[in-house]
Amino acid sequence: MRARYLIAFAFTLIVSGDSHSGETCSDDDGLCWKQRCYNGTCWYAGPADMVSMPPVRYDHEFAGMLIETHAHSFQDMASFCAPHPRAATVLGCAHLYYTYDNKPRCNIYIAADWYLKQVGRSSEAIRRHERAHCNNWPADHPQ
Ligand SMILES: [Zn+2]
Repeated sequence: MRARYLIAFAFTLIVSGDSHSGETCSDDDGLCWKQRCYNGTCWYAGPADMVSMPPVRYDHEFAGMLIETHAHSFQDMASFCAPHPRAATVLGCAHLYYTYDNKPRCNIYIAADWYLKQVGRSSEAIRRHERAHCNNWPADHPQ
């Protein structure tokens, strides 16, 4: 039993080593996950990540407190992202506001990992998309 566990662990290391090299896709789910780079930052990206990347001018750190929350279910997103009409199934949402002493704060909410994987997106891509909204990228996503 112990030996079988060790073999499985070693295999996992080999697979993740390959998939992070950027040379090949990790295709255990039939989708191409691999290292991609955008605006100088590289990450282990889903096949659909690039469509959600914001324009470079909004893709930077937020000049305030950024609070990131990850959902576990559609119900979580429904409450986090209300009153968005599709709150339960959005991949993320952002709420920018100012504290009583006028300091910017932004809450970003990211859909459950299992759901992002199904739609070929990484949480990193969604985080950068939502952070761009914190940086005043309008909701209709102008390029
Ligand atoms: Zn958006």
